[in-house]
Amino acid sequence: MAGLLAGLAGLGLDNLEKAEVFEKEKKVEAAAAQAAKSPEEIEKEFLLDKNIKCPVCDQTFTAKTVKAGKAKLTGTDFDFRPKYEGIDVVKYDAILCPHCGYAALTRYFDNVRNAKLIRETISKNVQLHTYTDDIYTYEEAEERYKLCLANAVVKRAKNSEKAYVCLKCAWIARGYAELLEAKGEGSSSKCKELKDQEEVYLQNAYEGFKEACSTENFPMCGMDEVTVDYLMSELSVHFKKYDEAMRILSTIITNTNANPRIKDKARDLKDRVTEEKKKQG
Ligand SMILES: [Zn+2]
Repeated sequence: MAGLLAGLAGLGLDNLEKAEVFEKEKKVEAAAAQAAKSPEEIEKEFLLDKNIKCPVCDQTFTAKTVKAGKAKLTGTDFDFRPKYEGIDVVKYDAILCPHCGYAALTRYFDNVRNAKLIRETISKNVQLHTYTDDIYTYEEAEERYKLCLANAVVKRAKNSEKAYVCLKCAWIARGYAELLEAKGEGSSSKCKELKDQEEVYLQNAYEGFKEACSTENFPMCGMDEVTVDYLMSELSVHFKKYDEAMRILSTIITNTNANPRIKDKARDLKDRVTEEKKKQG
């Protein structure tokens, strides 16, 4: 390295070369430092504490939230579950008031109906666990999501909200199972239990959205009609309801409001379903 710099000194580029070499070394050092960190430490770097006022008990508390734009999206599952490098952001979408037990997904948290029912049914009886980790573990996230579902039932939330919570509960179960698989615990009874749970949650999400589609207006859970239709077609395929999937996909392909990208996805899925149906005979 010294020889290289000595050769360039006469051209007046020695400082520039030095700077570049220094940057490279720093990058290597940074990568090494990152590699030495535990998954929890990496996840923690994506988080910040946010102050929230509870609409049910009026007290304030802090919840962990994901810093905007920091996490890198690496893909999405068939049912729209987003996957990020270094963090499962889904864990942070369930907000829980530690004072009264009110919990809801971020988008529904402030919009509380029947606060009195929550105070009487949840707050009076709930016994919350205390967690001290710097991140939300899957155990904690599971609990937060269960409370979201319980609160949604008590506050008589719309079917779409309950279905959306069920969908995200399925994502949590899937994420938890993936973590166990990565640890080499894929054949554990816990992992099997999580996979069964995921199916039950997906089934409930499917039924809930089906009901919501015939009784509620769009947009629903932040999704327009075509997006919800596409989700329903994917879920129909998942549950091997191929005729139902074909019916929904046809409505997307012929819908003049659907954008070309989702129409292409619908055509691809239709081809896949045709193949599956052939296999079944
Ligand atoms: Zn509260």
